[in-house]
Amino acid sequence: MKTIGIIGGMSWESTMSYYQLINKGIKQRLGGLHSAKVIINSVDFAEIEALQAKGEWQQAAVILSKAAVSLQNAGADFLLIATNTMHKVAPEVSQAINIPLLHIAEATARALKQKGITTVALLGTRYTMEQDFYKQVIIDHGIEVVIPSNRQVNEVNRVIYDELCLGQISLKSKQIYLNIINEMQQQGAQGVILGCTEIGLLVQQADTSIPLFDTTEIHAKQAIEFALYESV
Ligand code: GLU
Repeated sequence: MKTIGIIGGMSWESTMSYYQLINKGIKQRLGGLHSAKVIINSVDFAEIEALQAKGEWQQAAVILSKAAVSLQNAGADFLLIATNTMHKVAPEVSQAINIPLLHIAEATARALKQKGITTVALLGTRYTMEQDFYKQVIIDHGIEVVIPSNRQVNEVNRVIYDELCLGQISLKSKQIYLNIINEMQQQGAQGVILGCTEIGLLVQQADTSIPLFDTTEIHAKQAIEFALYESV
């Protein structure tokens, strides 16, 4: 079994989900007392968020690249960046190391293709929904990506930073998300990417009929496959 390196803490609420999902998955596959070989380098999200807000992505890339190198030196065989948004600097992080980086949008695109999805809605932070670094990966796999209206982008983004990353789960926000998901379905989306690693804490498949693609679950699952079989 390979050792999984995780750059976490963005936020730590979702890093906990990764740790649980990966260990549960390994236990399910191997049984008994088996657990995952994991090394986590957890950053201070306040520093990262401040850099995001100022548009200083290069500085954020330096912090994450350092974390990546320390994971590599500590013995990680491959890496995960446990956030969709910070994949904006995935190319820089990848360049800093010589072990593989399992890209969250690539993992999600594979899951979408397996289900035959050709048009998908994307929910995530403002950066993930509005910029190209994430969407383009999905589009390059031949899948059309739609995002909510401006007003809804603001709402989805606000709930992520002001609630979910602080561990606050509110029924009101859940309803806001479900209304948006419903609207996207009516507009022709065949599935919805939960493209922020905390959204799964608020909305689950049981809440809606449209297929949800929870990026935390998908990323964790493919990490397990890669750790055990070296392919996803
Ligand atoms: N965890 C979130 C994501 O998947 C948002 C936090 C961040 O900005 O990294 O995008």
